[in-house]
Amino acid sequence: MGVFDHAEFDNHESLHYFHDQTSGLRAIIAVHSTALGAAAGGTRRWVYNNDADALTDVLRLSRGMTYKNAVAGLRFGGGKAVILANPDTAKSPEQFRAYGRSVDSLGGRYVTAEDVGCSVDDMRIVHEETEFVSGLPQTGHDAGGDPSPWTALGCYQGIEAAVQARLGADSLRGIKVAVQGVGHVGLFLCRLLHEAGAELFVSDVNTDNLKMMTDEIPATVVAPTELLFSDVDVLAPCALGNILTSTTIPRLKATVVAGAANNQLSTPADGVRLAERDILYAPDYVINAGGIISVAAEYYDNGSEEDVRADVGRIKDRLKKIFGQAKETGRPTHELADELARSIVAAARP
Ligand code: NAD
Repeated sequence: MGVFDHAEFDNHESLHYFHDQTSGLRAIIAVHSTALGAAAGGTRRWVYNNDADALTDVLRLSRGMTYKNAVAGLRFGGGKAVILANPDTAKSPEQFRAYGRSVDSLGGRYVTAEDVGCSVDDMRIVHEETEFVSGLPQTGHDAGGDPSPWTALGCYQGIEAAVQARLGADSLRGIKVAVQGVGHVGLFLCRLLHEAGAELFVSDVNTDNLKMMTDEIPATVVAPTELLFSDVDVLAPCALGNILTSTTIPRLKATVVAGAANNQLSTPADGVRLAERDILYAPDYVINAGGIISVAAEYYDNGSEEDVRADVGRIKDRLKKIFGQAKETGRPTHELADELARSIVAAARP
């Protein structure tokens, strides 16, 4: 399949392929929309089965960033990057420098930060080559740094809103939550959920991450193949996307799905399937916007940690509104969120 007729193309403004022979870098940067500002979205470093899978991933993630940034009220358009990792080679500073030069060559049309497979240290190396990067270590009480704790905070507050809307519970005490993936965001989320008295069920395919989490926080470990189907109140996906499908949705026991992972729905029809089963779905790009809110505050140098905290707090209000509209109209939450995002982008177009 080509690019322009790709099922996920969705009017992307531009697509950029990069290769650096010396470091072995292979990367794709997708710019979905610059209607609201520079296309911003993190860099995912992942071992893909083939180039076609990497292309599909970056296109879906980049459109999601347009929607996420629009709904969060940020001066950012949407973009995303994937680095196609080689399973036999560890990541190297040379590769991130080459990647930084790639980002720089776009002259600010795309602004990057960390996503799955990339750390604050990696972004520090990228910063040696370009100013178009955020999520760098900050000093004092300036906004910015690792976006994951902010993503986790937004998710935690979003889970509170969803549990209130679906189960009528005013607290998470005793609420059973299954967290899929205890990496950067998942670990911070588990800490918040544990402090609130939730009962945790967790899985991760990375045994080091799982051990680090369970050494600190009491939780029942579930096999990765079974976690989605745990007998819990809330499923919080915090690993990769495409997990809510025609095969998995009929087997879910949770009545709330609310977590950080991008592109949780395999297709829009899966959002309808969730609604038909009366499972309340917190649209992923609405609930997981905490990190990009922090990234934007750092990039535009406008605000303190406290400002970011207040802004992340508004995620909960947006979700409450979407849940209320869904209840009133009987429409699935993902449709209402998509409609809102598209209307904000359309209004910004000259
Ligand atoms: P991460 O790489 O730090 O953590 C992901 C974890 O999921 C890893 O520990 C990995 O081993 C685990 N995992 C992968 N496949 C799994 C499976 N099948 N079952 C169980 N565990 C599995 O990534 P992260 O930064 O924590 O991001 C998690 C998700 O949230 C991603 O989808 C990311 O795009 C999204 N997200 C992250 C941020 C952020 O601020 N980091 C912001 C918005 C959205």
